[in-house]
Amino acid sequence: MEQFEVIVVGAGPAGLLAAGSAAEGGGRVLVLEKMRQEGRKLLITGKGRCNITNDAELGEFIQHVHPNGRFLRTAFGHFFSQDILQILHDYDVETTCERGGRYFPSSNRSADVLSALLKWVHERKVEIRCGQRVEKLLIEEQTIRGVQANGQVYGAAKVILATGGKSYPATGSNGEGYELARSAGHSLVPVRPSLVPLETEGGVAQKLQGLTLKNVRATVWVNDRKSGEDFGEMIFTHFGLSGPIILTLSRIVVDALHQKSKVELSIDLKTALDEQKLDARLLRDLDESGKKRISSLFRSWLPTSLIPVFMDLLGIDPEKEAHQLSSKERKRIRNLMKDLRFTVTGHRSFKEAIITAGGIPTTEISSKTMESKLVSGLYFAGEMIDVDAETGGYNLQIAYSTGWLAGRS
Ligand SMILES: Cc1cc2nc3c(=O)[nH]c(=O)nc-3n(C[C@H](O)[C@H](O)[C@H](O)COP(=O)(O)OP(=O)(O)OC[C@H]3O[C@@H](n4cnc5c(N)ncnc54)[C@H](O)[C@@H]3O)c2cc1C
Repeated sequence: MEQFEVIVVGAGPAGLLAAGSAAEGGGRVLVLEKMRQEGRKLLITGKGRCNITNDAELGEFIQHVHPNGRFLRTAFGHFFSQDILQILHDYDVETTCERGGRYFPSSNRSADVLSALLKWVHERKVEIRCGQRVEKLLIEEQTIRGVQANGQVYGAAKVILATGGKSYPATGSNGEGYELARSAGHSLVPVRPSLVPLETEGGVAQKLQGLTLKNVRATVWVNDRKSGEDFGEMIFTHFGLSGPIILTLSRIVVDALHQKSKVELSIDLKTALDEQKLDARLLRDLDESGKKRISSLFRSWLPTSLIPVFMDLLGIDPEKEAHQLSSKERKRIRNLMKDLRFTVTGHRSFKEAIITAGGIPTTEISSKTMESKLVSGLYFAGEMIDVDAETGGYNLQIAYSTGWLAGRS
């Protein structure tokens, strides 16, 4: 039986950081990856550009993590955004900080990030074997002894599980790591797709398919109670709603839908104007337009593709002239601009979810070392732990930081 100091299961960002930092401590480190290639998911991050991390301060960073960002305080304290940027810099990956503190490789190529991380681990003499699916953990007397992969047994004093979540299963992270953890006696916070597009009732979103709205505010209403809001960009799709602010709000929506609550999403198209100011603006435009057709007046108020949908929803004849519009009709226009409402009927599956919510409970893992509280020598890193974050580079940082701490421990 081949013997190693540390075996890391999974060659995603968490596994690579774990392996590299473990190897810095000396000893033979082996990474077993079931796919034929390392870092398949890393390659598709940020639409192939890879949003590496975020420049938020620790306190703010933690606020973007759910359900318990404080669990990561020690991991972030040991290895944070500047540390991953330094490693990339050392391997000639220049980075650019964009809007919202999001770091990307200046080349806009996620492949550059992956190849830098691979060089970093190889220089530390880590051995990576791809095409090796770990199917069993070897545990005796609550102590890890090694793993079995493709029928072959490997011995190790420490094993780090970094098998990812369940989203985008084609990349290799299909949730089977949870079963390995369960076989060690761990429980599982039910996993749900997060940062996931939403499906809506009726054909309105579908009619607007492809339309992107910027600077809008989306508000989630659960059983008629305001439960969250976000400001920014969104897009209509053939099934409903997507885009950054929708993905961010999806965490609240998915949980509410699973509780069978009534979920609505309201879009404020005129965030810069409160109701009074918007009314004054509509009134002014109507007064100045006299015999102009109402449909052409709408062109100065809304993106063109929204106009027929608005006319339908309002039941206003588009041929009507501006001066013929009643104050009641004006009020309905104003209300719809401030509250274009969708009933949310569902969410897309793990196949389209950027991240997995749920996973191995943080109460069963030491935040100081990432070691299992149930099996000595077993460690966890990355998305398989029950922490997930909003978009902005936070999720990858969770993977690097927990990986680094597990490896160092
Ligand atoms: C489309 C998309 C875009 C994203 N963009 C961003 C972004 O720009 N910024 C950001 O911060 N986050 C982004 N994320 C999230 C980010 O990719 C994840 O948070 C991160 O990859 C998690 O790292 P990980 O190492 O824990 O898991 P993974 O990257 O999923 O790696 C786990 C690895 O374990 C392997 N594995 C699983 N089971 C076994 C087994 N039994 N034996 C051996 N190997 C196994 C898998 O094949 C996989 O290679 C994005 C996610 C998606 C899906």
